Amino acid sequence: MNGTTDQTRHQDRVWSVAEHLDDVLSKIGPLDPIELQLLDAQGCVLVEDITVPVALPPFDNSSMDGYAVRAADVADATKSAPAVLAVVGDVAAGSGELPGIGPGQAVRIMTGAPVPPGAEAVVPVEWTDGGTGQGPAATMRAHSAAPQDAGGEVRVHRPAAAGAHIRARGSDVTEGEPALRAGTVLGPSQIGLLAAIGRGTVRVHPRPRVVVLSTGSELVQPGEALGPGQIHDSNSFQLTAAARDAGAIAYRVGAVADDAETLRSTLEDQLIRADILVTSGGVSVGAYDVVKETLAALSAEEGTVEFRRLAMQPGKPQGFGLIGPDRIPLLALPGNPVSSYVSFELFVRPAIRALMGLPEVHRPTTPARCTEAVASSPKGKRQFLRGSYDAEAGTVTPVGGAGSHLIKAMAHANALIIVPEDTTEVPAGAEVDVVLLG
Ligand code: AMP
Ligand code: MG
Repeated sequence: MNGTTDQTRHQDRVWSVAEHLDDVLSKIGPLDPIELQLLDAQGCVLVEDITVPVALPPFDNSSMDGYAVRAADVADATKSAPAVLAVVGDVAAGSGELPGIGPGQAVRIMTGAPVPPGAEAVVPVEWTDGGTGQGPAATMRAHSAAPQDAGGEVRVHRPAAAGAHIRARGSDVTEGEPALRAGTVLGPSQIGLLAAIGRGTVRVHPRPRVVVLSTGSELVQPGEALGPGQIHDSNSFQLTAAARDAGAIAYRVGAVADDAETLRSTLEDQLIRADILVTSGGVSVGAYDVVKETLAALSAEEGTVEFRRLAMQPGKPQGFGLIGPDRIPLLALPGNPVSSYVSFELFVRPAIRALMGLPEVHRPTTPARCTEAVASSPKGKRQFLRGSYDAEAGTVTPVGGAGSHLIKAMAHANALIIVPEDTTEVPAGAEVDVVLLG
């Protein structure tokens, strides 16, 4: 009835993995499109239909190094009775001025060079004697880009039908044809096509900028010596790498001490360059759980971050909300390294991919036979165990135990074994679903 009771109930509620994920994704949409240089758009989702402005190839051109000829002139050519043609010019790729050819004439031509007027076919150099006489015709390799008066003769010992070894204008794409549709993810070949049709920039959803911040007064930067009670900050590295792997531009802020003011001012500073914020640590119920303390108490103006318990192991405590004037999504992950990484894979990675407008935001899952028995308790939690998946055998083998501090096991796993909420025992040989970490 009254607000306090509602709020208490709300906080007591245990969220399922799916409910938390749905909540995150319901508040995140693709970033506003921007115009990017082609290579900066790699991996991004196109937001415009692209039409071909000029046919490809833009002109008939040779697919071989050889001689451009008239088909009739070489129709009867054989090894013993070659067609002897006068070489009246030389055309390299990039040649603008083209010598025309008449009956009994040939032009030496390079791969990609425009087919000169009058020519109907290209005879590969292997079907000829390579040309005789002075000038560049005798030395195919030493050609220059400028058309030259080749001189001499060439003996052709095989016929070539009209169109042979000519790549016709528009045989790849024609003007006005759709090249790529909005929604296409730009990989190397799509970027190649865009470049080929002359596009220098394209409109895409940009990669989100992810700011990764770890918290903990015990944390020391790798490379520095540990004092008593200290450990190296591994989460900010793991999560920054994971953010990059998900497609984001990731900024690692590093470790912030368990101090509310420091955390607050650091977050404030970082908001300016963040499309999404990820913190690790400080979200459970300990005395120094500063992330929870600080972010649960934001003013309405500053934003709202909700802390909740999930029916999940590892990764029970999670925070999610929108902060700052632009309401930037923030995911507060638990501090144990396996918990933070599993949480990242389950919630942050889909969020990053949703910001990119990607059609598929989740890691693929697949059924596999579990080679060993695994126990999962207590009942009612979805377990994500580290596993080694063998695609060929269709099996998965648990790696390490359930401890969420087992960093090495995580590093030797390539999958997460899902043990559903209502399952406490998986017998050896039973089928389980696994998340493929790639
Ligand atoms: P917390 O959630 O902050 O209570 O942290 C839970 C456990 O994870 C503690 O043992 C921390 O020392 C450890 N931990 C927290 N943050 C990190 C980090 N960035 N790198 C490695 N371990 C961490
Ligand atoms: Mg901590």
